[in-house]
Amino acid sequence: MAARTLFDKVWQAHEVVAETPGTPAVLYIDLHLVHEVTTPQAFSMLRAHALPVRRPDLTLATMDHSTPTHSAQVFGSVPIKVDAAAKQVRQLEENAAQFGIELFGMRDARRGIVHIIGPELGCTQPGMTIVCGDSHTSTHGAFGALAFGIGTTEVGHVFATQALLQRKPKSLALNIEGNLHAGVTAKDLILGIIGQIGVSGGTGHVLEYRGSTVRALSMDERMTVCNMSIEAGARAGMIAPDETTFAYLEGKPRAPQGAAWEAAVTRWRTLVTDLDARFDASIDIDAGRIEPMITYGTNPGMVMPIGSAIPDRKGDEMFEKAMRYMGFHGGEGMLGKPVNVVFIGSCTNGRLEDLQAAAKILKGRKVARGVHLLIVPGSQQIKQQAESLGLAEIFKSAGADWRESGCSMCLGMNGDTVAAGQYSISTSNRNFEGRQGVGARTLLASPLTAAASAVQGAIADPREML
Ligand code: SF4
Repeated sequence: MAARTLFDKVWQAHEVVAETPGTPAVLYIDLHLVHEVTTPQAFSMLRAHALPVRRPDLTLATMDHSTPTHSAQVFGSVPIKVDAAAKQVRQLEENAAQFGIELFGMRDARRGIVHIIGPELGCTQPGMTIVCGDSHTSTHGAFGALAFGIGTTEVGHVFATQALLQRKPKSLALNIEGNLHAGVTAKDLILGIIGQIGVSGGTGHVLEYRGSTVRALSMDERMTVCNMSIEAGARAGMIAPDETTFAYLEGKPRAPQGAAWEAAVTRWRTLVTDLDARFDASIDIDAGRIEPMITYGTNPGMVMPIGSAIPDRKGDEMFEKAMRYMGFHGGEGMLGKPVNVVFIGSCTNGRLEDLQAAAKILKGRKVARGVHLLIVPGSQQIKQQAESLGLAEIFKSAGADWRESGCSMCLGMNGDTVAAGQYSISTSNRNFEGRQGVGARTLLASPLTAAASAVQGAIADPREML
């Protein structure tokens, strides 16, 4: 057999019907992750055609996008404040019950952001095809899975058939070598990559992150990197599974156990790109040159090293529109600019290691007067771990607002929003106009940079506080 990439291997193993010039492939789906926002119409589609969910055992639902993060609304008697959110939560409860889908509901200790609970439960495994009605499904590619976001109509197709019509994307190797310097995180790495290749640099491709830098990353860090593949325009991002992956998965409740575990690891070890395999394209990245990064515009490609000046692109209409929205100018520096809100959380940076990084900065320090620091764990399990490790106490002593898990301020639909005109440093993945609330101005950065800026009350270089 010809040498194959990791992506080729996973794709071919799931191709029920091969694509032809006139028809897409039929791809089998191993795991369908479901949340409350992109599913109501898909369930209605099933009802309209009197269809069941084909494989409820391969379908898993949680609530995250529109769930409140205030304890009183999650566990107390206070109703969910946002009406639309309350309706979506209710609808998912009814739909999951009617169609026999396992749901981690509002008060379930395993609830959390869909891209965080899949891995932490061991549902996400190497070699799988995983889909979800959310763009950042690419997160699961950190395990060597082929994982991508789908639209509501496709959610309906997967419910009904456990398969999907897909054209095979091309492959792009990102060869990343060198050590990340102190104070430079996986978030800076992926922002640096997007800065280098652009927001459409990966369009039409599945990325494979390769090289010594990637091998040295923890699973939490790999998930941060794969999570933002979509922000480079890619269909998905993948990392070949290795000992780090197996160590993370071993003993997770839904991972294979006993003899099945041994068999699975043997199979997973074959999920690497063959030595002579050819990618459609490849790009080299020098990780040693990456610094703490921050965005200055309205897409993640408008990004720069934190100590640099905003590039001056007079005459570039998109740039000028972004500068007007953000209230910035080409040529000015970012360090020292005041911030109003700092959000640490989301499926990009709401994992335990992200919270540990933030705690490193916040320990023994105070959040600057007038700054709202909101820290939202990615899942209830992470919340519980952070509390038992004393991180929550560090956050609260610093003056941070510590909440229940959810997507929170990643997007302005659950009651956690940034006011119009305010500046928010966010560890999430999108800085689009209005993403965190109408008129909100979002600056993407790492948990270290976010925490350092919360303390300073202004954009700060975390390397000075480590
Ligand atoms: S945290 Fe943001 S990107 Fe992630 S699943 Fe929630 S809304 Fe989507």
